[in-house]
Amino acid sequence: MAKKPGRSTGKHATKSTGETAGKNAGKAAKKSAPPREPGDRWETPAADVLRWVRGTDLSTLDQAGTPGWAGDRADGEKLMATRGEELADLQERLFAHGRTGGDRSVLLVLQGLDTSGKGGIVRHVVGMVDPQGVMHRGFGVPTPEEQQHDYLWRIRNALPRPGYLGVFDRSHHEQVLVVRVDRLEPVRVWRKHFAELNAFETEVAAAGSAIVKVTLVVSPDEQKTRLAKRLDRPDKHWKYNPSDIDVRLKRPEYLAAYQEMLDRTSTKDAPWYVVPADRKWYARLAVTELLTDALRSLDLGWPPADFDVAAEKARLAET
Ligand code: AMP
Ligand code: MG
Repeated sequence: MAKKPGRSTGKHATKSTGETAGKNAGKAAKKSAPPREPGDRWETPAADVLRWVRGTDLSTLDQAGTPGWAGDRADGEKLMATRGEELADLQERLFAHGRTGGDRSVLLVLQGLDTSGKGGIVRHVVGMVDPQGVMHRGFGVPTPEEQQHDYLWRIRNALPRPGYLGVFDRSHHEQVLVVRVDRLEPVRVWRKHFAELNAFETEVAAAGSAIVKVTLVVSPDEQKTRLAKRLDRPDKHWKYNPSDIDVRLKRPEYLAAYQEMLDRTSTKDAPWYVVPADRKWYARLAVTELLTDALRSLDLGWPPADFDVAAEKARLAET
């Protein structure tokens, strides 16, 4: 993996590649920031600058922005490498915790329109940890079997077991996104889902999961470029679906649906973070940071040995 970053004084911040600090940035600055490591150029912690503030106008988001980050792409890639090591260490602690009877887990929920980079987050961020500790699940159009149950059935079945990092590529929130936009259910039915989603997530959090929900937001222009690339490259055709263009044409409806989803389902137990996604390096760095924070917040040490270490050493020496 990449080298460790060199020491930086942090005094001469490189030019910001797009300042879009959210409304909550000021509030965040008052909190004591975690200790910095060389190469850390977050001037506002990602969790503070990206956490959704109810009522923010989603349509004003700068999708090419790099909120909170004072460095450039190269700086970001350096920090990714160091954070990757920390993330892997924290995830291994979580796994060990689960193996020794602990009940904690982490659930990363990824939402975003086609080409917003959900798959890239899975590959490049989640890919930095040990795959045996990951429970990944992508949610598409419900299968005939899934349709026989209520919409949370398939979600419950995919929840991370204790000790696991669960990753949802799309999620139960599609019930207020595609279901709303494509009128798959009457208004009075999908409207009830906001409260149901919140109650469900409260239950999941109470059972021991730290929930991190991320909406990736790609601009229409960047989406067009990415779809064009999928069409141009035979190795990307498998990712393309002709319906992607239909969805693209419904962007205003999706934006309205996302706006209300964010406003109504960002809770203390399951906050939403909105990540500008035109710069893939930034989105990946930001989600790495959010995930690292979530794992750190569990504050897990290594489980103590349930055997006599000295006695085992002596036994081994005799063999
Ligand atoms: P992809 O993520 O590109 O593999 O596409 C998955 C597709 O499944 C998207 O078009 C989603 O809109 C669709 N999808 C996901 N969840 C649901 C749902 N609950 N009802 C209907 N369609 C869904
Ligand atoms: Mg797709």
